[in-house]
Amino acid sequence: MTRRAMRPDLLNPLFAETESLKGVGPGLARPLEKLGLTRVRDLVYHLPDRFVSRRAVTRLDEAGIGENIVIGLTVREHRASAGRGPFRVLAEDDAGDIVTLTYFGRASYTARKLLPVGERRWIAGRLDQFGQMRQIVHPDHVAQDSGELTAHLTEPVYPLSEGLTQGRIAGLVHQALGHLPHLPEWVEPGLLAREAWPNWAEAVAEAHKGENAKARDRLAYDELLANSLALMLVRASNRTRRGLPLHGDGHLRKRLDLPFSLTGAQQRAIAEVEADLAQGAPMLRLLQGDVGSGKTAVALHAMLIAVEAGAQAAMLAPTEILARQHAETLRRMAAGTGVTIALLTGRDKGKAREATLMGLLDGSIQICVGTHAIFQEAVAYRNLALVVIDEQHRFGVGQRLMLTQKARTTAHCLAMTATPIPRTLTLAQYGEMDVSRLDEMPPGRQPIDTRVVSTDRVEEVIAGIGRHLAKGGQAYWVCPMVREQETEDLAAAEARHALLKERFGDGVELVHGQLRPEAKDAAMERFARGEAGLLVATTVIEVGVDVPNATLMVIEHAERFGLAQLHQLRGRVGRGTGRSTCLLLRGEALSETGRERLALMRETQDGFLLAEEDLRLRGGGELLGTRQSGDTPFRVASFDQIARLLPLAHDDARLLMERDGGLSSPRGEAARVLLYLFERDWGVQLLRGG
Ligand code: ADP
Ligand code: MG
Repeated sequence: MTRRAMRPDLLNPLFAETESLKGVGPGLARPLEKLGLTRVRDLVYHLPDRFVSRRAVTRLDEAGIGENIVIGLTVREHRASAGRGPFRVLAEDDAGDIVTLTYFGRASYTARKLLPVGERRWIAGRLDQFGQMRQIVHPDHVAQDSGELTAHLTEPVYPLSEGLTQGRIAGLVHQALGHLPHLPEWVEPGLLAREAWPNWAEAVAEAHKGENAKARDRLAYDELLANSLALMLVRASNRTRRGLPLHGDGHLRKRLDLPFSLTGAQQRAIAEVEADLAQGAPMLRLLQGDVGSGKTAVALHAMLIAVEAGAQAAMLAPTEILARQHAETLRRMAAGTGVTIALLTGRDKGKAREATLMGLLDGSIQICVGTHAIFQEAVAYRNLALVVIDEQHRFGVGQRLMLTQKARTTAHCLAMTATPIPRTLTLAQYGEMDVSRLDEMPPGRQPIDTRVVSTDRVEEVIAGIGRHLAKGGQAYWVCPMVREQETEDLAAAEARHALLKERFGDGVELVHGQLRPEAKDAAMERFARGEAGLLVATTVIEVGVDVPNATLMVIEHAERFGLAQLHQLRGRVGRGTGRSTCLLLRGEALSETGRERLALMRETQDGFLLAEEDLRLRGGGELLGTRQSGDTPFRVASFDQIARLLPLAHDDARLLMERDGGLSSPRGEAARVLLYLFERDWGVQLLRGG
């Protein structure tokens, strides 16, 4: 049976394509897709960032400056400016007071049509002061009669992307809300009553209509419950599965020739892993360790235990570059053991690929490192018993865990992350995995000298890089890359690269996500080998890259990065014995929070502290919370809601699992619908797969 066929039919209207709605053609499809709004469901959950409330007034002098109003006006005059100046419409209220309606650019064409001289119109917008004049810039609405505007004095403000307007989104959401099916209640009745939450359909409608904390909480709770439940299903399914107990006799580990001795934290983690591997139930362990804490060595020990026990191990890396680097590092470390380590990525083709596939099948390759290609269907293992997932952060823990369940006997799983996840989020992301922490850094690390520098001083910074390179040092130059402004950001990174190349010649490389993988790897390799001194990069270097000779990093527009991300980036330097420096270039307009965040970066190198503070600085204060897709696996729940409601959801999910682990009671059935609604259906599939 296919995925789609298994989804309960009653959800079909919600999973219809956005393009099935009236008025959505190819022109709108693209900006909608940018916002992730490809299905009706996505529109339903595209909740307003905030609401504007307007007051209906009859005279301009009843309204304060800065107030959002609805008012009837008579159009008196059109004033076009010379050149690129704004188009102004002078309009008069019933008392004869004048307000200027100001339009820039193309909007002036519509304004001429909507506001003919001599006619009376109803205007909604924000009243401002411009010199001595009252003005409304780009009124939100212009209508012929008052009814339309006074009926909707509170209006949602939606997140937008280029090519979309508030009106358009509101119209689509309205259509989407017209398609709401009746869904069974999955929230525990006692909780529903205690919190006085509306049912799902009411909550959705209310959340789009106005500020309604109960409705928003309920929707957030749904998402958190779906997530907790899915993770628990994975966990439960894992418990019932049989893994291959792995007892290593140490003969390979004995032959390891590491250039350092393990830290106490590394030894503890290895012991925990070794104990797990010896069990019949498959290991499900998260190794959490700050950047540079030495997770790779722990992974190697784990994999060698598997090989000692006569099995194979695979290591999954998120990027091609990282897979390559891991293969090299592991081969170097394990040189004395005689273990064969292969690299397999999506780019391997032809004979080389076939040879690797053969080796995995006949067992002559004991350890395989690669990207997700290592789990493709064509790849068969003789005896895969351990999967290590590197830099497992943010997304899809569940999906990845699924991979381990595809093996004949379930493979043991060690997931590693350098992302310091605040305690409040650990539960959400990793559910009930066992956790080992590397809370001790290898000895001899020097703190990274971090400084915040104004962008005005970029010339001095470049001169400093020149001196650094002249002494044989290497450096990173990081440019921000935000999804919403990808093309602009890319252009900026390219321009920066061109400028630095002009200054320092050929030893300046550029890597970013849009490059062909071959080009990216070639650039990275030149840098890793020391042939290039300066690497200009977007955040693709964020994960795992290890070039100890690079001891200087410049981060442009540092204020645009999250703290956790800055911390990850900074972790690329300070990996050798040399003293490292990180310069955070800050733009001119910096908010108070922005200032505080950069100061914190300067003061501490504790990843966990930074993560907690990041959460605090972003989380508090905002009524509707901040939705930062990418930082949590949630689209609906804000940080504040996660902190408040996740423990509830977690307990509720556990209770449900205890009473009805097969999700077959009426409430269990409703919970299945919930899992599909939030696309955590991998949880359900485990149930069916048995
Ligand atoms: P991460 O946890 O970020 O993956 P790595 O495994 O890449 O860290 O290790 C970072 C660096 O520290 C590597 O160069 C590695 O060789 C070194 N390293 C790891 N463990 C130790 C140790 N116990 N003593 C000294 N250096 C170590
Ligand atoms: Mg690593």
